[in-house]
Amino acid sequence: MRKRRQKITDPLLEALISALDEERVTDGASARLLYSKDGSVMEGGRAGIVCFPETTEEVAKCVEISKKFDCEFVTRGAGTGLAGGSVPCNDPIVIVTTRMNKILEVDLEKRVAWVQPGVVNLDLSLSLRGTGFHFAPDPSSQQACTIGGNVANNSGGPHCLAYGVTNSHVAAIEVVLPDASVVEFGSSEGEMCGYDLRGVFVGGEGTLGIATRIAVRLTEDPPAVATLLLDFSKITEAAETVSAIIANGILPAALELMDKNVVAAVEPFAKAGYPLDAEAVLIAEVDGLPDGVSKEIEKITQLAKVNGARQVRIATDQEERERIWKGRKSAFGAIAKIKPDYYLHDTVIPRRRLAEVIEKVYDIAEKYELLVMNVFHAGDGNLHPLLVFDARIPGTLEKVRKAGEEIVATSLEAGGVLSGEHGIGLEKQRFMTQQFSKRDLEAQDALRRAFDPDNRSNPHKVLPTGASCGEIDSLKEIPEGVWI
Ligand SMILES: Cc1cc2nc3c(=O)[nH]c(=O)nc-3n(C[C@H](O)[C@H](O)[C@H](O)COP(=O)(O)OP(=O)(O)OC[C@H]3O[C@@H](n4cnc5c(N)ncnc54)[C@H](O)[C@@H]3O)c2cc1C
Repeated sequence: MRKRRQKITDPLLEALISALDEERVTDGASARLLYSKDGSVMEGGRAGIVCFPETTEEVAKCVEISKKFDCEFVTRGAGTGLAGGSVPCNDPIVIVTTRMNKILEVDLEKRVAWVQPGVVNLDLSLSLRGTGFHFAPDPSSQQACTIGGNVANNSGGPHCLAYGVTNSHVAAIEVVLPDASVVEFGSSEGEMCGYDLRGVFVGGEGTLGIATRIAVRLTEDPPAVATLLLDFSKITEAAETVSAIIANGILPAALELMDKNVVAAVEPFAKAGYPLDAEAVLIAEVDGLPDGVSKEIEKITQLAKVNGARQVRIATDQEERERIWKGRKSAFGAIAKIKPDYYLHDTVIPRRRLAEVIEKVYDIAEKYELLVMNVFHAGDGNLHPLLVFDARIPGTLEKVRKAGEEIVATSLEAGGVLSGEHGIGLEKQRFMTQQFSKRDLEAQDALRRAFDPDNRSNPHKVLPTGASCGEIDSLKEIPEGVWI
């Protein structure tokens, strides 16, 4: 059992400053407040000293110091996470990677690029423009989120339906382990023998150490791409179309569904020509060789019509394609015009149950008198009900939380899982026992402790602790097997 550090001590600050420099270490009140939150609605975060290393060596020094002073640390990329993964509980050292933003090496022959973890996702693909390659994972937050955050959360995005989530696009990772040693998992040169520790680290949500260099796989740009916009008078018809497309053996590059509330919010801004009178629109993108693309357009159009599509529009040029995607990718920002706050959920359900579960989600929102908007990666059954609200109205947050719990329970009852891409973080910890048995959780705890025996790397996340972030410092000590 380890004693907790009760308050920020000057020797710790001094040690961190001597490891980096004064400009890149702060315990100022505004920085601590800023870095106490992420993109989620999780509360109770409290940052300790905030550090901005620029190299692997500097990260290792910060971790070494955290070990020497026996304190916890939390790694943070851009803080766009929606499950509270980078929210610091109990004054840990916050290690921010945004200054580690260099693309270190691009090898087009091997189709691999080595990047620092703070490289913004979209910056990598923009820097590759004209080479014939891109980085396939494209979270809707790609203009801000970092590759390190993508690796830690095993993030997905619209185009991960056909191309796979981040795990499929990471060849190797250099990691600073919680004992401050530097190791490399995987290989940029080909397959490694032995256990796939690279695969274990991806999705570790910052609990297994800090990714300091990442070898990402580069994907060849497809020779032909077509973007279709389909609209429906019932959202269930759109959901049935998704199931029919996949059941007929077509795997589009992307298959994204937006309901009429989302369309109404984004159309005035994106000017994509989304029909405002439709109950739902579906964006389908197919890519590959031109002949195959033509055949898939034909088949998707036919299946959509059978399932009730009113119109099928095929983008005629790159500009029209970009406008269609702009609407989808700016959906969450556009919500701010309706209400100041949102809670974006993330569960996965079997695709064949999409229509039924969406109906239930609308019922849950109605029961709690909340506005729900649905925008999601329909092709892989990844639901993202968006509860839109004004937290300043007393009692609203409580209603939002209850509705959220029912959405999670409904997804699990339908045979789904807790998260498709946002991770467990703080948000879903308390649901872990509903999905995993005690034995499963023990195995996960043992894995985590193999990397971090002292439980110092983002320790209050993923496995259930029975305490919320704000309550943690009232616990005297971290018990062994904290999740029990
Ligand atoms: C508007 C919006 C849309 C979104 N759309 C999507 C989407 O389509 N798909 C999707 O998957 N997610 C989406 N997200 C969620 C989020 O953007 C992703 O999870 C993203 O990968 C987080 O990256 P980040 O740099 O912001 O990480 P942060 O939020 O800073 O951190 C996330 C987690 O990663 C850990 N971490 C960060 N860097 C490292 C590192 N170098 N080493 C080890 N651990 C690290 C943190 O400790 C934390 O647990 C969306 C978020 C928003 C706000």
